[in-house]
This record gives sequence, C-alpha cells and structure tokens, in this order.
Amino acid sequence: MPSLLSDNFLIILLLIFAPVSGYLIYEALKLKDNNAHLEEDNKHLKDDHDRMVRTDKIKSEFMSIATHQLKSPMAKMKWALQAIMSANLTCITPQQKELLDTAYDTNEKMIRLVSDLMGVKETEESTLGYNFKNSSIEEVIKKTIENFKIPAEQKRVILEFINTSPGLPPLTIDPWKINLALGNLIDNAISYTPEGGKIEIKLESFGNSVRISVKDSGIGIPEAEKGKIFTKFFRADNALKVKQGGTGLGLYIAKNIIKVHGGELWFNSIETKGTTFYFTIPFDASLRAKENIKSFVDEM
Ligand code: ADP
Repeated sequence: MPSLLSDNFLIILLLIFAPVSGYLIYEALKLKDNNAHLEEDNKHLKDDHDRMVRTDKIKSEFMSIATHQLKSPMAKMKWALQAIMSANLTCITPQQKELLDTAYDTNEKMIRLVSDLMGVKETEESTLGYNFKNSSIEEVIKKTIENFKIPAEQKRVILEFINTSPGLPPLTIDPWKINLALGNLIDNAISYTPEGGKIEIKLESFGNSVRISVKDSGIGIPEAEKGKIFTKFFRADNALKVKQGGTGLGLYIAKNIIKVHGGELWFNSIETKGTTFYFTIPFDASLRAKENIKSFVDEM
C-alpha cells in the first residue's frame, strides 16, 4: 500500500514537473536565442558608431581643406575688386559699376560663410581648439564692443555697456572664443535692429558665474520659430527679409563655445519689440571644459 502511494506520488510529481521543466527549458533556450540577437545588435550598433566616427572625421577633414583653400582666393578677389573700385575709372558705365558692387558684396558673403564654417569646425571639435587663460571678462567685452563700433555707427544704433559688477577676478576662459560668441550676438543685434535703435550689453555676477546679456530693440523672433533658432543654418522668416547675407551659423557657434565653457545660452524675445540673449560663464570654466566637450560630442 505505501509503495502504491509513493508510486502515485512520483507519477503526480512527474506530471506536475515535466511541463514545468519543459517550459523552463523552452524559456532558457529562448533567452539564449535573445542573447545571441542582442550580441548581434550590439555588434551592428558598434559598427554603425565606428562608421559614423570615420565619416565625421572625413567630413571634418574635407571642411578644413575646403575652407582653407577657399579663404585665400577669396581674399585675393576682395583685394583685386577693391583695387578696381577705388581706381578713378572713367571708362566704366554705371551698369558695370553696379556689377562690380554686386561681385564685391557676393565675395564678402562668401568670405563670411567660409569664416562661419571654419568657426563651426573649430568650436565643435575638441578642447584642443581652445586656449584657456586667465582673462578679464570686462576687457574681453570692451574689445568685442570696440570691433562693432563702426558697423553700429553706420546703422545708427547705439551700443551701450553696463557693468554691474566692476572689479571681478579674472576668469579662466578662451578670450578669443568668448569674443567670437559675444561678437556673433552683437552682430545679430545690430543686423536685426532698425536704425535709431539701442543695444545694451550688460555684465553681471551671480554666485559662481557671470552673466552677459545683449539686449536689442529690434525685430524680435517669431513665436513659432523660437524652438529652431539654435539649429545649424536656420534663419527666421522676418530675419530673411531684413538681412540677406546671413548664414544661420552664428548662434550655433556661440552655443558651442558657451557650452564648452560650462555655461548656458538662451534668449527672451517679443516679435517687433526686441530680443535679449543671455549667457553665463562659470568662474571655473576651464575645469569644466573637458567634461563639457565630451558630453557635447556624445549628444551630437
Ligand atoms: P544669421 O544671423 O547669420 O542668420 P545666426 O545663427 O546668428 O545666423 O542667427 C540665426 C537666426 O536667429 C537669425 O537668422 C534670426 O532669425 C535669429 N536671430 C538671431 N539673433 C537675433 C536678434 N537679435 N533678433 C532677431 N532675430 C535674431
């Protein structure tokens, strides 16, 4: 009797566990299969990533060669056109003079595009392109403003500098790059502000960083286009109407530079009323630079 019971018990156990173990074996096989797929997917992802890194390097090298090769002939063209235009030519008609002006303006636009493309390359690549040193941010701002004195006068807009934090200690920054970023913001403010307008550049200090702002009384940025403003080559509709020669690269370059310095760049704008761009730079910008370059490259 006990043996019959134990036999039945064994059969019951078998009946219960056979399907369970079968199911477990099936799941284990499925898992193994999934693992194999995952490994294969990983390999594909790694291959794709390596391919992208290679393509990016080729693209970068191409950009470097193309821009450097274009720079010198365009500079020669500018020099030649200037020489012709400044000569006292009595034999050219007004139409020919107009053609010369067009050639000069077109060449200037190309010089600007090439310089912006070189700026994109230099500011995107790595901290190698950056030269951090202790610099007075006030001096960097003043020098940048100085560069725009003539264009501002020609456009009849007032450039005003307000320093709410005089006597700041030096910041460890790349002064040339900050000059480029701030210059792009001032350049835009002049371009997109009608004659008689005012541009206010302000330096403030907050806790661990400084904040620099460029406030204009210009055309503003349309609400629907605010989200795209930092995208490479993007230009808003109202900007296209007032300035033909823009490249849509200035803000992208500025954003890269500020990000590498560990700061932020943003804006407030009301269409037809004006725009204020703000950016921050932490006092320890150079320490954060390496880290920021890395996360920036990862994001791209
Ligand atoms: P660009 O000025 O050469 O077009 P940017 O990258 O400097 O290129 O600017 C991108 C776009 O952002 C501009 O075309 C314009 O639509 C908008 N923008 C930038 N700054 C201003 C500003 N101060 N006022 C109005 N729009 C601006």
